[in-house]
Amino acid sequence: MSDPDLREQISRSITGMTDAIAAEAAAKVAREAAIGQVLENVAALRAEAENRFDPSYLAVVRHLYWHHKVIPVAELVEASGFGYVAELLSAIGPVKSGVVCETCGADIMRTSRSWQPPRRYWNNPVECETCQKASRDVDYRQRQLQALREQYAQQARYRRQRWTGRSRSSWCSPTRRSACRSQVMMTTST
Ligand SMILES: [Zn+2]
Repeated sequence: MSDPDLREQISRSITGMTDAIAAEAAAKVAREAAIGQVLENVAALRAEAENRFDPSYLAVVRHLYWHHKVIPVAELVEASGFGYVAELLSAIGPVKSGVVCETCGADIMRTSRSWQPPRRYWNNPVECETCQKASRDVDYRQRQLQALREQYAQQARYRRQRWTGRSRSSWCSPTRRSACRSQVMMTTST
């Protein structure tokens, strides 16, 4: 292949590249216009609906939120007449994530676009929110029980120490008792 051929090829590939960039920019403009059109129609539908909690209206918002992620959430919230994202989410409700709870078998629900599936920690099962809460409650009760056991054990140790201390300090006179008591504590705490 001679040099002039290569130069011509480079020239053609530059034209192809700039055409592709121009087409990309045009597609982006068209996409933004199409999204704007959808949002305008949503706002119009919102104006027609009895209220923003009208089930047939919510079905449209729900579909757009979950299935057309190209529509920015903030713009959908505004067009659909909700004050903030959480309000829209609570109105349209969650969808099945395809992940099943390994404890109760229920479908784990996807609550927002940014939702992440629960991860497996150690050998713990992947659980739905209800089962996670139940597991946390069991853990909490076990920790409480353990703390109580330790408290009782400590009290029992303290009673034993006091009993031994009393027999040792029986020779103390009332005036020397407090100094004597601290000495007893020092000897029994070791
Ligand atoms: Zn569960």
